[in-house]
Amino acid sequence: MKPSWPCRHVKRLLSSSAFAALSLVSAVSFAQGKGYIRYKTVSGQKYVYLSDLSAYYGMPLSKKSSGCGIGSKSSSFSFEYEKRHGSFNGVKIHYLFAPVFVLPEPLVSELDYRKVIDPLLRASVLLPRKKVRNIVIDPGHGGKDNGAQTKYREKDLNMAIAFNLRDQLRRRGFNVFMTREKDVFVELDQRTAMAASLKADLFISIHCNSASSRYVRGIETYCLTPGGAPSTIEKKGSSGWQKGNSFDSQNIVLAYLVQRCLLGNTGTEDRGVRHARFAVLKSAPCPAVLVECGFLTNEWEMKNLAWSKYQQGIAEGIAEGVAHYSKTVK
Ligand SMILES: [Zn+2]
Repeated sequence: MKPSWPCRHVKRLLSSSAFAALSLVSAVSFAQGKGYIRYKTVSGQKYVYLSDLSAYYGMPLSKKSSGCGIGSKSSSFSFEYEKRHGSFNGVKIHYLFAPVFVLPEPLVSELDYRKVIDPLLRASVLLPRKKVRNIVIDPGHGGKDNGAQTKYREKDLNMAIAFNLRDQLRRRGFNVFMTREKDVFVELDQRTAMAASLKADLFISIHCNSASSRYVRGIETYCLTPGGAPSTIEKKGSSGWQKGNSFDSQNIVLAYLVQRCLLGNTGTEDRGVRHARFAVLKSAPCPAVLVECGFLTNEWEMKNLAWSKYQQGIAEGIAEGVAHYSKTVK
């Protein structure tokens, strides 16, 4: 339970500012139409050549039969053909679309390039400078809504983790508010309205999960699905722009940092950074994530989630992720 070092990849990401600055130059050239990145439409979907991204970011391309990747000393992305999951610096990422292989070249979707890959690689130059002061924590469910329920009720565990997180964040100097501090029912739109009136800089919703299989366990961190893409659990389909999509770049970076640090603190399975159109993410007035801290339907994880030390480990993981995010945008 004791964290060894939760966020070593994060450190690498943040220390690559020289690299990031170089990338920005490329971006300018690209914007001037020098054509560093080629596009190709496959089955009506816009893709970019991974070899072009490799050159653009200065990250050598690797190919194998099942997938491909780009990587440098500081960062790496992996992809699997026809599958929507891969990884960034060892953390599982659910991409918006599956990469494809059109001989002899691997292609990744243009939306993944703009909404996942580029923000993660160039966080330190791409994200708007905005000091994180006010953070709203949203303990999911409450009152008549128990959430998932086995031996424990999700709403109670969410509350315990949220209180812990509040203390962790306050210790780090943030102003922290909560959408509920008692076992009361709060409408979803009221939760984000509260965040707006409190001028929240970040919104973090805390939940615990359930599944039909008792073997499923692990942590998932969700951010809002970008417009035009399917959510992680959807095979296809898309939806338009939501208020929360103003923060697409911040959302994915925050989700990655939180997931990365949570994994280091809990030792459970990495179920990845995911996209969903949850109500609180759609209407969030600021960068927002929803963390599914573990499965109440898995005996091992349920016991852990009810254990104060483990709750503290989760809270520390989220707080570490937030602290890294805060440094990135200050
Ligand atoms: Zn829930």
